[in-house]
Amino acid sequence: CGIVGCVLKEGKVAPILFDSISKLEYRGYDSIGIACADEDKINLKKDSGKIAEVDAKLDLCDLEGKYGIAHVRWATHGDPSKINSHPHLNGDGTIAVVHNGIIENYLSIKEELEGEGYQFVSDTDTEVIPHLIDKYMKTGLDLTQSVRKVIGVIEGAYALAAISSAEPNRIVATRKDSPLIVGIGDSEFFVASDYPAILKYTNNIAFLEKGEIVILDEDGVKFLDENDQEMTKEIEVIEWSP
Ligand code: GLU
Repeated sequence: CGIVGCVLKEGKVAPILFDSISKLEYRGYDSIGIACADEDKINLKKDSGKIAEVDAKLDLCDLEGKYGIAHVRWATHGDPSKINSHPHLNGDGTIAVVHNGIIENYLSIKEELEGEGYQFVSDTDTEVIPHLIDKYMKTGLDLTQSVRKVIGVIEGAYALAAISSAEPNRIVATRKDSPLIVGIGDSEFFVASDYPAILKYTNNIAFLEKGEIVILDEDGVKFLDENDQEMTKEIEVIEWSP
């Protein structure tokens, strides 16, 4: 189980995401997926199986867009399968989410959302997150505010990263009880579960604490504390290369 997210100033992000997420293989996984977005559309490839096998079948680097998220899954809710692989989307495919961990109260959230007309395609706990974000964004909140509301609703352990085609070139991520680090390069900005994913690209690392939100976009990285106040974080230079 592992997460990577990356926003580039220029260029195609899929090959970087593929390289980075492959470095998290050691954490154990049964499925892999990548979602990248260009200005108005999220492009997604995912399946269960070994990274090399899925890549041979789908060509995971062949995805357009300069920002995106990637995942290797260790199934906890729902069998390893294409449909249960991450990233997970909302109904119209405008929001994509990757998640590590377990949402303990997903069943009650799922029932509530189904009662409101939301349709689920997977057996995962994770799929409640893109639908919740969809619901909050439809009330007029932006992606960051919607992720904050999600934190207030979900219980359990998580690191998660979300993108929305309504807010191009942006990744919003947060964590509780699952690790997430932030990598700050010159023209590329990362979130990842662990160092090996990103040290090839940058040694400038910040650690996200429980309840904090990080917003990556083309201009850099912004941190919000638990009360949504913008905060500065210490950037550590990690002198270790994978
Ligand atoms: N609970 C989620 C799932 O089963 C995430 C698992 C993980 O951390 O990879 O899909």
